[in-house]
Amino acid sequence: SREYDYLVVGSGLFGSVFAHEAKKRGKKCLIIDKRDHAGGNVYCKEVEGINVHQYGAHIFHTNDKQIWDYVNSFVEFNRYTNTPVALYKDKLYNLPFNMNTFYQLWGVKTPQEAKDKIQSQIEALDIKEPSNLEEQALSLIGPDIYEKLIKGYTEKQWGRSATELPAFIIKRLPVRFTYDNNYFNDKYQGIPIGGYNKLVEGLLKDIEVRLSVDYFENREEWNALADTIVFTGKIDQYYNYEFGQLEYRSLKFEHETHDVENYQGNAVVNYTEREVPFTRIIEHKHFEFGTQPKTVVTKEYPEEWTSEKEPYYPINDAKNTSTFKKYQELADKETNVIFGGRLAEYRYYDMHQIIGSALKQVSVHFQE
Ligand code: FAD
Repeated sequence: SREYDYLVVGSGLFGSVFAHEAKKRGKKCLIIDKRDHAGGNVYCKEVEGINVHQYGAHIFHTNDKQIWDYVNSFVEFNRYTNTPVALYKDKLYNLPFNMNTFYQLWGVKTPQEAKDKIQSQIEALDIKEPSNLEEQALSLIGPDIYEKLIKGYTEKQWGRSATELPAFIIKRLPVRFTYDNNYFNDKYQGIPIGGYNKLVEGLLKDIEVRLSVDYFENREEWNALADTIVFTGKIDQYYNYEFGQLEYRSLKFEHETHDVENYQGNAVVNYTEREVPFTRIIEHKHFEFGTQPKTVVTKEYPEEWTSEKEPYYPINDAKNTSTFKKYQELADKETNVIFGGRLAEYRYYDMHQIIGSALKQVSVHFQE
């Protein structure tokens, strides 16, 4: 038998949960990561005493009590509630679309007035079968909300005009006829007290981790160390891109430290105008109700993805879906490799979903 039971490639939430659970079952694991830190995309860097989310703002939310209890068993979560605001041409609007937003847009005060306003805007357009994202959004919400709060933001996110984007990207647009700015509907929501690194440290306690090592640079040597491989990197790269590359959207983050205590009064401000190049500004201290003298903000710019850039959002269109299926067929035939996580499954996952998926794979693998 080899030195380790499992070689886990990638120390993101998937790899960390898997390793933690395997260790709990008496197995010996080695985790490797090509980055110089563990935690994957939930990693935070401390700047000015503030936990700065390095790969985009992360807000934990779930309806699943078991998953909530699971993460809270490693670190206590605070009661942060995500209440983003949108800035469009010098005016602020509450999100998600709710009575506050409708009041700000139209001065309407009752749910019935808001419903009537939206309905009359939709009817005036008379769109029968939406053929692109613009028509889809217009037919769901009407022109005022679409123009001010959806169009520019979506076009920046995808780098394309809304009339060139497929309608299926927007299936529904949640509207709420209460004065409730809570972005998520889930029962549980919060940020780990002390940051996400605490969660990752808890998961990886007493597990051997080697950083700044790329699996593909010494693939055969790594493989020789363990009986089973848990692979959470890119599945197309695992198979040497033999069916071609899977495509992504990327992001660029610009972090700035400001010598003020409070820069924007909220963790998340979306910039919904097409002309402003970033989609949002995150002020990290507000996730943890920080009182530090300075503040750190991050501007988020959507970008075209090239193979040197971080792959953030999979593009699940017909072409990529069919390419992924071919890789998945190869993966299904492997006997000592487990594929999991957002890159190996080519799927957007929230954190609670990744944890759920890792726990499920654990129980299947250990036949529990
Ligand atoms: P990752 O965290 O990406 O981990 C994969 C790891 O594998 C990485 O550390 C990588 O370096 C390593 N790796 C890859 N290839 C190799 C290799 N060849 N050799 C060695 N190591 C390798 N979820 C929420 O619930 N709430 C949010 O608010 C939220 N916001 C998000 C915002 C953004 C901008 C993004 C992109 C995602 C957000 N998510 C959010 C989703 C969340 O980030 C993911 O669910 C989670 O991080 C996925 O974990 P993972 O382990 O699958 O992947």
